[in-house]
Amino acid sequence: MTPASTVLALSGGVGGAKLALGLERVLPAGELAVLVNTGDDFTHLGLRICPDLDTLLYTLGGVVHTGQGWGRADESFGFMEELRRQGGPDWFLLGDRDLVLHVERTRRLAAGERLTVLMAEFAQRFGVRSRLLPMSDTPVATLLDTEAGELEFQHYFVRLRCTPQVRALRFAGAAQARPTDELLNVLHSKALQAVILCPSNPYLSIDPILAVPGMRAALRASGVPIIAVSPLIGGRAVKGPTAKIMQELGIEASPASIASHYAGLIDGLVLDHADAAHAEALAMPVLCTDTLMSTLADRERVAAAALELATALSRSRARSRA
Ligand code: GDP
Repeated sequence: MTPASTVLALSGGVGGAKLALGLERVLPAGELAVLVNTGDDFTHLGLRICPDLDTLLYTLGGVVHTGQGWGRADESFGFMEELRRQGGPDWFLLGDRDLVLHVERTRRLAAGERLTVLMAEFAQRFGVRSRLLPMSDTPVATLLDTEAGELEFQHYFVRLRCTPQVRALRFAGAAQARPTDELLNVLHSKALQAVILCPSNPYLSIDPILAVPGMRAALRASGVPIIAVSPLIGGRAVKGPTAKIMQELGIEASPASIASHYAGLIDGLVLDHADAAHAEALAMPVLCTDTLMSTLADRERVAAAALELATALSRSRARSRA
């Protein structure tokens, strides 16, 4: 039997998966649950594609292309070559093995199966020991209001390589979404000890999760410490458009902005040593470490730091209750 989850991580794709892997490696087997953004999901060539869920699946299943951080290492591209030859849309790369997942997911969703259930089965087949939980079983789409008009996430992120200036974001379908029973079971369990917000993009990856009605309240009601790991190192994103979007939305790319973005939700923040000077000004407990996760050891170190801060907060709460 799978053990109860002691830690719930909220994650987007590549950046989030780095920490999720670290958490999986430092926790006893089976004790991690990952709540994954589905705002990036889209329908392309008639197929339902869930990039963040699949990045977690491939990362925790040990088949990810480690150089890229997404897609599979053992991949071929015969489908893409032929699609290109036939003049089809080739801006979104689909490997031959990867494609099987999208075809199967599309078929099973059309037959009325829930995304949570089929992702759990995929995870089992890939030998993933952690629980992979989509943020919602109903579709939610991250839409960006940009200078180039309103764009679906993948068109902004992959086709246009994050170039258009972003004015605002919205999450279509969020009002109809609900936290799943599987997630609520994790949050209601006495075994749960911490919720960790991975250093995923707060606007594009974590906000869609928090936009699900009842999600923030359910996370808070778990009563465990909620810790975020900052995606910024020295005011810059390690990868991707986090700092660019902050600048375009008129927000300073700083630890203070991350703290205030998650205000009312998080109890503590893990920052990079490069940002240590900001720690004192933040109205919450902070732990500093090197947060750049290049190696497996880095992933484990950052995971251990986030758990250490959560444990310290639990202890101080227990002391103040005594
Ligand atoms: P995406 O959905 O694939 O774009 O990935 P995420 O949203 O999960 O992660 C993107 C964020 O992860 C970016 O803001 C990066 O700055 C952050 N990130 C990526 N690698 C690292 C790292 O090694 N350390 C830290 N602290 N942040 C990282």
